[in-house]
Amino acid sequence: MEQTRDYYEILGVSRDANDEEIKKAYRKLALKYHPDRNPGDKEAEERFKEAAEAYEVLRDPQKRQVYDQYGHAGLKGTGFSGFEGFDDIFSSFGDIFQEFFSFNFGGGQRTRSSARPGNDLLYELEISFQEAVFGTEKDLDIETLNTCDRCDGKGMEPGSSESLCPLCRGRGQVVQSQGFFRISTTCNRCQGSGRIITTPCRDCHGQGRVRSRKKVHVKVPPGVDSGTRLRLRGEGESGYRGGMAGDLYVRLRVQPHEFFERDGNDLYGKVKISFIQAILGDEIELPTLEGTKTIHIEPGTQPGTVLRFAGEGVPSLRGYGRGDLFVEVDVSIPTQITARQRELLEEFVAIEEAKKDKKVRRWPWSKRRRNKDDEVGEAAR
Ligand SMILES: [Zn+2]
Ligand SMILES: [Zn+2]
Repeated sequence: MEQTRDYYEILGVSRDANDEEIKKAYRKLALKYHPDRNPGDKEAEERFKEAAEAYEVLRDPQKRQVYDQYGHAGLKGTGFSGFEGFDDIFSSFGDIFQEFFSFNFGGGQRTRSSARPGNDLLYELEISFQEAVFGTEKDLDIETLNTCDRCDGKGMEPGSSESLCPLCRGRGQVVQSQGFFRISTTCNRCQGSGRIITTPCRDCHGQGRVRSRKKVHVKVPPGVDSGTRLRLRGEGESGYRGGMAGDLYVRLRVQPHEFFERDGNDLYGKVKISFIQAILGDEIELPTLEGTKTIHIEPGTQPGTVLRFAGEGVPSLRGYGRGDLFVEVDVSIPTQITARQRELLEEFVAIEEAKKDKKVRRWPWSKRRRNKDDEVGEAAR
């Protein structure tokens, strides 16, 4: 193997790099250009080999010193000749790979279960405002992969049993030859478990799970809001061949309320009264979450007055207590009045005027006017 490139350059380290840095740099390159990841790629093969050679030299203090002083020619003088092929590299540095690859270069026995966990599922559930506030219970109808009843998730026909995988003879690994090297990989036939199902279940064809519908009962606690996610452990997709089931996440969407808006656990609403009710006071019906309630409007209630009803908001999701209900009073002013009504109002105005101190004759808003034309306009009316 012809070597002309600088070893430090190959590994991408500085000339004063320490052993750890060199090892790290080599690992990175070795994993990147590993023939198992780049089958048939000649360029990767070359990179892999030159990295191994650079590492072989730089990890050895004596060789490194010779190389630093005399370069490639100096190493040749010591009898160093690099690697013959991949087998050579693996037998020298196999341990480096073992830390990083799940398979085993030495070909030792390592099996793993063929069971795999199921996926988590997400379900969008729309509930009413009322249900969000007071909680509810729902039955969801979900189509997903469920544990096969026939084989109880094992994947085998009832009464049959597993046998040793004929391909790997129960080792879970097979040795493959790819060009220069031999490598152990997970057995495809048994997926590394070392055993195979001889008689797959008729219903699930050996999967241990089948696509079907199931009902899931959900308890929605009081006080939830849009975006609240409920997690139902183990209610997601069933695992492959008896693996753990995934979880089911239920994301809630709360429909708006016709009267209330919600901010945390507090509720906000508006109520409209006539200007007569505002002046004289009244009893009115107010919608609440639990129906309607009668409230008392004080005589002389101002527009924008906010009435607070403590503890009539949304129950707290965490622990006890409830938020408050705030109701803003809006006063409506009639836009059309009859001549008789106008007469009465004018009489009302006259009484108001008479009540006032003689010095204060003008309307309060007239005081704020600065524009002369407006004053004239007002007077002309
Ligand atoms: Zn089955
Ligand atoms: Zn096998």
